Amino acid sequence: MLKVVKFGGSSCADAAQFAKVRSIVLSDPARRVVVVSAPGKRTADDHKLTDLLYLCAAHVKYGVDCGDIFAMIRERYRDIARDCGLSIELDGEFDALWDRLRAGEVSKDELASRGEYFSAKLMAAYLGFDFLDAALWVKFRFDGSVDREASYEALSRAAGGRRVVIPGFYGVMPDGHIHTFTRGGSDITGALAAAALEADVYENWTDVSGILMADPRIVKNPAPIRFITYNELRELSYIGAQVLHEGAVYPVREKHIPLNIRNTNDPAHPGTMIMETVEDEQDGGDSFITGIAGKKGFSIINIAKTGLSSEHGILLQVMEVLEKREINVEFILSGIDSVSLLVDSARVSGRLYEVLGELQKELKPNSITVAEHIAVVAAVGRKMANRLGTSGKLFAALGKNGVNVRMITQGPDELNIIIGVEEKDFEQAIRVLYDSFVKE
Ligand code: ASP
Repeated sequence: MLKVVKFGGSSCADAAQFAKVRSIVLSDPARRVVVVSAPGKRTADDHKLTDLLYLCAAHVKYGVDCGDIFAMIRERYRDIARDCGLSIELDGEFDALWDRLRAGEVSKDELASRGEYFSAKLMAAYLGFDFLDAALWVKFRFDGSVDREASYEALSRAAGGRRVVIPGFYGVMPDGHIHTFTRGGSDITGALAAAALEADVYENWTDVSGILMADPRIVKNPAPIRFITYNELRELSYIGAQVLHEGAVYPVREKHIPLNIRNTNDPAHPGTMIMETVEDEQDGGDSFITGIAGKKGFSIINIAKTGLSSEHGILLQVMEVLEKREINVEFILSGIDSVSLLVDSARVSGRLYEVLGELQKELKPNSITVAEHIAVVAAVGRKMANRLGTSGKLFAALGKNGVNVRMITQGPDELNIIIGVEEKDFEQAIRVLYDSFVKE
């Protein structure tokens, strides 16, 4: 049994958090491969190490001295080492980095990557594991994508059954230069490591007890999701839930490895388990909606033309007009004499009249209207399929609470019900759905 475990910035923020990580890792011998982020904020007004490193890079770029910031960075690691009782010596490496930095020899990516590098050095010493540099195995192509095959092979060779700590967030370009992922990229390193080593599970330890069923800024104390399928997660993320980077899901999903989101500050909590399929016996008890998500900023273009549905190729014409301007259609709803398109308002802004003008010219419709300030809200749940009365209950609850529904769609797999509402009703719609389906 092998568990690849990744700890985020808040889990590595200081010695107290390091101690929690250690007890989690050492409590299970299967946790042999550990990926860490750079130390995050210790308090709300503290700085993330990575932000300080980017700040340093910006100073260097404009020729401004960053000695104070660099000293703060060094101090954070010294504090952790001292408070964890470690005798590891990082000063030599810091001095060398400082000299190269002042000589203009350190790229922005390399500097940013040092947050995870030093974090992993300390964590390896603290756990008694080997330090394994990501630069030895996370291989990028020149276009910035990861060469998974080469990376997997390099890691299985380099890890060789040892207990290791790997820094997240970076790898190397084909020419050997350090390259970072986008922000939050240590999740991707963890997923790649789990996939490369064909782990039994990829545990992603953070500071919440799993994915919440709804946005906590809208719903008070939403419950965490216990089990969710990869498909449901995709639906929720697409519709606005900020969960995991796609790049952090794909490598493990491809290898059928379950992904478990856990809380370093509450290790007894099982968190959220993301899997290809959820077995019936695991499913019991939960509400039949898995999660609720949504986002604002859409417009609906309604095109009405008598006999539209029997005209050949009309949808193709509509799509061509939008395609030419790289406007993606999120949803299409068609009736006998009309078709409605839901589009991202930001994509059409400034070009709306142009688009409408062209649709008018090409299709010669009876009318074209646009409804702006539309929000989309989705209830996602594998258990909604074949369950009678779901949509009836949903619309009754929304109606009773004064939310006017402007658009409805449900995928044929019945994995979700998506509704369009006015932006002013967005929060209310989410709360109504949560109250009627989750607290049922
Ligand atoms: N430390 C990096 C960041 O702050 C990467 C990570 O934490 O995943 O974005």
